[in-house]
Amino acid sequence: MNNPPVIGVLALQGDVREHLIALASADAVARPVRRPEELAEVDALVIPGGESTTMSKLAVLFGMLEPLRERVRAGMPVYGTCAGMIMLADKILDGREDQETLGGVDMIVRRNAFGRQNESFEAKIDFAGIDGGPVEGVFIRAPWVESVGASAEVLAEYEGHVVAVRQGNVLATSFHPELTGDERVHAYFVDMVRASA
Ligand code: GLN
Repeated sequence: MNNPPVIGVLALQGDVREHLIALASADAVARPVRRPEELAEVDALVIPGGESTTMSKLAVLFGMLEPLRERVRAGMPVYGTCAGMIMLADKILDGREDQETLGGVDMIVRRNAFGRQNESFEAKIDFAGIDGGPVEGVFIRAPWVESVGASAEVLAEYEGHVVAVRQGNVLATSFHPELTGDERVHAYFVDMVRASA
């Protein structure tokens, strides 16, 4: 793929704008995705941070749940941050009873594992496959990965908890690189998208 890849940001809820900006600085063409027709037109997708219970509800309401699941199953590259990570987990803990996920990574993710809003924090995170020193991790009511299956690769940990995972074309982080102005994680994802084309 010589042309810049077209990467959508799921725009049902959450910090969509920040991801659009980060993707653009990582040399992708970025656009919001709300409807199945828009999803069909992108090479890859970012699922932003926000509130996964709301995102799940809106995905059902907008008729996006099955189209999203289908694209992920078909191998579309996808990157989820925080609530987005929850959406990409095959299984979640401390979710709402009727909460749906797309799945994609053989992992169990615990919602709000790092605590509530007032327990948000930043930390330097060593990220496998990203050069130039640790990335700044912004954790806001962040989940962690309680366990990962054999096919998922752990890319980062914080205080013994898994906070970044990749399985094939699916990438997920507990934290929010889109809020830091450091676009290296987005560039890593854009490289994944180019490699899968
Ligand atoms: N705790 C939120 C949820 O369950 C995620 C928070 C975030 O995305 N910053 O979806």
